[in-house]
Amino acid sequence: TIGMLAIDKHGNISGACTTSGMAFKMHGRVGDSPIIGAGLYIDNAVGGATSTGVGEEVIRNVGSFLVVELMRQGLSPEAACKEAVQRIINKKPETAKEIQVGFLAINKKGEYGAYAIQEGFSYAVCDTEKQDRLIDGKFFY
Ligand code: ASP
Repeated sequence: TIGMLAIDKHGNISGACTTSGMAFKMHGRVGDSPIIGAGLYIDNAVGGATSTGVGEEVIRNVGSFLVVELMRQGLSPEAACKEAVQRIINKKPETAKEIQVGFLAINKKGEYGAYAIQEGFSYAVCDTEKQDRLIDGKFFY
């Protein structure tokens, strides 16, 4: 999945995501990316979130909506992503190590963060005032 989150100079947040789905997917499978609340969710009062990885697990946890709701409760983007990943792990502790799910989030202040189950989830930050950079997302295993 490619997920993008943006904030403009007025603090308006937007997002988009696109995916080719999972390898060897069942014909007709719908992943998390086209489902608002799962693969992407924006609340302009709070922030936005997007996901990558095994879409079924993201859908079961309404993952991007969860991340935004956790930010609404005061968590930082990274802490909200970590908590959403933790919930996915908690539901399937015996198999979670074998799958990847990652979340990326931005809040109204322009703070951002990410968290994944496994290593290998990096993201790019494009900032008109600072140099563009690639950041390695944090991970559990
Ligand atoms: N999230 C996508 C899906 O489940 C897979 C991906 O990360 O590209 O369809």
